[in-house]
Amino acid sequence: MTAKVIDGKIAAAELKGSIKKAVAARKTKGLAVPGLATVLVGEDPASQSYVKAKHRACEALGIASFKVGLPADTTQEKLEATVEGLAADDTVHGILVQLPLPKGLDAERVLNMIPLTKDVDGFHPVNIGRLAQKGREPAFTPCTPSGIIYLLKKTMGSLEGKNAVVIGRSNIVGMPVSLLLVRENATVTICHSRTQNLQAIAKKADILVAAIGRPEMVRGDWIKPGAVVIDVGVNRVEDASKKRGYRLVGDVAFDEALEIASAITPVPGGVGPMTIAMLMQNTLRAAQMMDQVF
Ligand code: NAP
Repeated sequence: MTAKVIDGKIAAAELKGSIKKAVAARKTKGLAVPGLATVLVGEDPASQSYVKAKHRACEALGIASFKVGLPADTTQEKLEATVEGLAADDTVHGILVQLPLPKGLDAERVLNMIPLTKDVDGFHPVNIGRLAQKGREPAFTPCTPSGIIYLLKKTMGSLEGKNAVVIGRSNIVGMPVSLLLVRENATVTICHSRTQNLQAIAKKADILVAAIGRPEMVRGDWIKPGAVVIDVGVNRVEDASKKRGYRLVGDVAFDEALEIASAITPVPGGVGPMTIAMLMQNTLRAAQMMDQVF
């Protein structure tokens, strides 16, 4: 079997196209232009490039964006005052504090200060708590996990009753995607660094999500024939043949998986593009929620 390659770039472009239309329609109707503010503390190159990509996406879709950059030695008080200012600004519908924060800053305190209705990253503890509770609705769900569910439903239709195995339990990916899969009525097993017999558990999955951060750890013989594999990992491995000296690989050995799975996301070009598209969707939603307030 050669697996279908799930093209996240195409899916993200489709989604962004519909967001762009919705933003333009708001402008025609005289409704507020959705606005996203990013807060970046320090100069971590990866974080800088993520923030840059988010602003580029805003620009392309007609969403207003506000960039706040703070030095790495910013105090907790200054950071909290910045978030407080954005929380009070009516032109800002979504606030995103780029994580990880430099050592010494308390991310949880900062995330707690973002109003639930502006929490477009979906990381506010109350939004995550609601995600975990039956019958409760979070204002927003985290972007990478939502992008994963979008790709899975596009590929498989209903996820109901499927056996899903998620490797990774981080606050950003593993845990929220597991909660979203439960909401889709999948049966979910969450694995982590202390899981025993990981390969045997993975091999039972109809849906295998790898969010580990270990290059090509999941091998072909970990995969159930016909499974749908979502590779979230983004890892640099040295590659002298590349100009920049490295290439990006996922957490799954892609070529091996291609022979066994029915569908798989590539790295890059799979989950990554969906993350930003979902952020744009959440920002539009934040503006729509504000319409109902005024
Ligand atoms: P993380 O916070 O480091 O979490 C990694 C998880 O993997 C942890 O739960 C850890 O278990 C588990 N793990 C580590 N080694 C393991 C092992 N040998 N066996 C089983 N489980 C193991 O990472 P993350 O933030 O979730 O990110 C995971 C990957 O996704 C990274 O490569 C990251 O770059 C990528 N990512 C991509 C996007 C995107 O948009 N494409 C977005 C976010 C992240 P413990 O909990 O026991 O430590």
